[in-house]
Amino acid sequence: MNHFREQFPIFNTISDPFVYFDNASTTQTPITVIDAMSRYYTHDRSNVHRALYPLSLNISDRFEHARSKVQQFIGARCPQEIVFTKGTTESINLVAASLSENYFQENDEIIVSLLEHHSNIVPWQVIAKRNKLNLRYLTVSETGDLSMEELEKLISPRTKLVAVTHVSNSLGSVNPIHEIIQMVKKRNCLVLIDAAQSIAHIPIQVKELNCDFLVFSGHKMYGPTGIGVLYGKEEILREMHPYQTGGNQIRSVDVQQTIFADLPSRFEAGTPNIAGVLGLEAAVNFITSYDPAEIIQYEYELTNMLESRLSEIPFVNIIGKPKHRSSILSFTVENCHPTDVALLLGEKGICLRSGYHCNEPLMNVLSSEGIIRVSLAPYNNADEIRYFCEKLIWARNLLHRNKNDIPSKSKI
Ligand code: PMP
Repeated sequence: MNHFREQFPIFNTISDPFVYFDNASTTQTPITVIDAMSRYYTHDRSNVHRALYPLSLNISDRFEHARSKVQQFIGARCPQEIVFTKGTTESINLVAASLSENYFQENDEIIVSLLEHHSNIVPWQVIAKRNKLNLRYLTVSETGDLSMEELEKLISPRTKLVAVTHVSNSLGSVNPIHEIIQMVKKRNCLVLIDAAQSIAHIPIQVKELNCDFLVFSGHKMYGPTGIGVLYGKEEILREMHPYQTGGNQIRSVDVQQTIFADLPSRFEAGTPNIAGVLGLEAAVNFITSYDPAEIIQYEYELTNMLESRLSEIPFVNIIGKPKHRSSILSFTVENCHPTDVALLLGEKGICLRSGYHCNEPLMNVLSSEGIIRVSLAPYNNADEIRYFCEKLIWARNLLHRNKNDIPSKSKI
């Protein structure tokens, strides 16, 4: 994977040691993505879908070309099924707000899992309160897995939508979304898949999956920040109300009323993130230039190495052991607060996250005061894992020594 790593200028601009293990939060940017965005600002800057001069016509074509590229990448039926948003969070808010207009009736149920990121909980909580709906939770086992039997029991005649993540952002569990979607569709409910943590790591084909919605962010797949995607089945998007309204999404407006534009413009009010869309297309080109099987195998081996190295350290407790793990692994360090460990590792050039990871309901179940998360990408390597384990032991010893130095109350 040396070739993969070489595409990322940041590894040459930040002085060593620089170990980037925070890929679940945001990935680094390859040169082709940086170039695509910079080319727009230096050569092609103009607005899309409005003017008739060549610069603008050209960039409008390129913008729509990017949409088709994303469509092919996830195997959607047509470009109309691809709505550009700010990211996963906005995509879920769009679906929740829009469905709350005319899809749900009082006492209907929405099911989410306890593995969800706050982005896939809070929007549903808000509309559940407003529309008098019930939000129900699928629990998580100690290993970090969801139970299909429990889901089957949880779905009732009142269930209207099930929203689950493909990959847990804190435990790394890869959920069986094929089975989940099949089960939900049999019961005639809508199903939304949060692919924020899988889109860069696992090939996804929405037509085969048969999900109704799939959402993801550009910045977790080597693309720019502030751009993301809502995939929705065309026939469902057609029935949905616009989430935001304004310019660029209307067919006609008179002083009393508006006729909205066709898909996907009706969900893209205002000037879009043009550089972001072009950068996202470059990110798709970047990902698809590698063999997905090779990426999966490499990440699998690296994560296995991380897991076995960590399990050899006596004071480390790995959280969860899901049936299928992506390249995310979380742990705690006995007698040390996660924040202290992360701060010390940061001083040694190791970038990772500690805390609740926008998963408070899950953390409450784990009764944890927070966890430390390592999330890997193909530009990481075995040397970095060895360095990290060495510095983790150093940090623990330092914290422990300091703790023992402080006289306990009984000694004062
Ligand atoms: N869902 C999951 C599973 C995530 O990991 C994240 C980001 N950590 C989000 C949703 C939210 O993504 P964004 O902040 O890009 O909207």
